[in-house]
Amino acid sequence: MASTQLLNSSSLLSKSSSPSPRHHRHRHLKPPQTITCTATPSITSPPLPQPSPSLPTTFSAKYVPFTSISTNTPTPESYSLDDVVYRSRDGGLLDVQHDMDALKQYDAVYWKSLFDSRVGTTRWPYGSGVWSKKEWVLPEIDNDDIISAFEGNSNLFWAERFGKKFLGMNDLWVKHCGISHTGSFKDLGMTVLVSQVNRLRKMNRPLVGVGCASTGDTSAALSAYCAAANIPSIVFLPANRISMAQLVQPIANGAFVLSIDTDFDGCMKLIRQITAELPIYLANSLNSLRLEGQKTAAIEILQQFDWEVPDCVIIPGGNLGNIYAFYKGFKMCEELGLVDKIPRLVCAQAENANPLFQYYRSGWKEFKPVKANTTFASAIQIGDPVSIDRAVFALKNSNGIVEEATEEELMDAMALADSTGMFICPHTGVALSALMKLRRNGIISPTDRTVVVSTAHGLKFTQAKIEYHSGGIKEMDCRFANPPDSVKADFGLVMDELKNFLSRR
Ligand SMILES: *Cc1c(COP(=O)(O)O)cnc(C)c1O
Repeated sequence: MASTQLLNSSSLLSKSSSPSPRHHRHRHLKPPQTITCTATPSITSPPLPQPSPSLPTTFSAKYVPFTSISTNTPTPESYSLDDVVYRSRDGGLLDVQHDMDALKQYDAVYWKSLFDSRVGTTRWPYGSGVWSKKEWVLPEIDNDDIISAFEGNSNLFWAERFGKKFLGMNDLWVKHCGISHTGSFKDLGMTVLVSQVNRLRKMNRPLVGVGCASTGDTSAALSAYCAAANIPSIVFLPANRISMAQLVQPIANGAFVLSIDTDFDGCMKLIRQITAELPIYLANSLNSLRLEGQKTAAIEILQQFDWEVPDCVIIPGGNLGNIYAFYKGFKMCEELGLVDKIPRLVCAQAENANPLFQYYRSGWKEFKPVKANTTFASAIQIGDPVSIDRAVFALKNSNGIVEEATEEELMDAMALADSTGMFICPHTGVALSALMKLRRNGIISPTDRTVVVSTAHGLKFTQAKIEYHSGGIKEMDCRFANPPDSVKADFGLVMDELKNFLSRR
């Protein structure tokens, strides 16, 4: 798990040339956090501060048709979160709707200090970056039913050298959501979904297991959380289209793995047919529970900036649940008064799997699913995204932008980022190339505070990096490859190599 000194941005912000000196003042004005360590740590003690007795202490949430959110029309159709339901009556998407009136009984100061008081603690389950926002996520679940690996609280990294060197930017940040239990942001959603399934099984609902189709990271997260909860997991993977590291995770965590001779879209179709027949709970992001967990990454970014809103947030998109989850997190903070605006959202796609980009380019005229081609950004190789409507809604309401990146652009961006000390995945490379384009055409200015969402850990994608650095990729120059030099074990030859290297510097 990520080391605690990486967990918050305060150590970065105390650098002498920190881009926002205002943070220093805010940090010092804050009351010191009261993290008490007793000899017998009580990890189940209640959160601080306590709500005042005159205000409601119960919050609730339910499923409503997504169209009632997107068209802002109330509807009588709603479902309990304890129902097993993925689609509205007319076949549309569902959304989790919170009782905002109950949440509004508490002011922004209350929520901010409550959330701040939980950062980095071991108090179950609030030390998790997701469950530290429990009242906004899954308010009615019993703490004992929660399955958590203390996900979230990920590093918001000041990409100082990358920003200055390649973009002339001093206020560029990378939200490292991939520094997490299974190495991707999928943990944020999966802790919520598997906790809810755990609750349903304790209520004796006849659920024999949880299943998903995956481009790799969803299955890794599902398998880990299910294994922790002793719930059977079933994963459908497109054969030969995911990385070895991603494949070995569900295998190691004891999932039932079906490697299917099709692409992600094919696997998705099959799992939906299967879950309609068998009592297997569907864990894909069609299931809106996951987005409730994923939205906490957006809230966390605001919290890490001391509730100052960044100008722009760039998110790589495939099935397009996460772009909406970020929108939802930001929007909720605005609605509850924690901030007074939301950032501009950018969704970044691989050119080889760019149905959202094409739709955007057409002026939102007509959406056409595409046949997704192979891309190094394999987790976003999706041609018919389930959450297309959610993504369009998020972008239209955030003055949003869609960009794309070719294979060469995304791999070059990844290599450049790595050369400044990061170790990012190809999807984050897609987001960084989108940023480079938006900087070049002036849409993002040098002083804009910009956050790039890093979705997975680079160590899951070492094969792509090896291919790049060995220069063996067809029709790609691999301009920033840094292959090793081979040399015999001989003092003179090693000296020659070193002199050569030093003279090139
Ligand atoms: C799942 C995933 C994405 C895409 O998220 P969507 O919600 O499907 O758009 C991007 N990057 C990585 C590494 C992922 O695992």
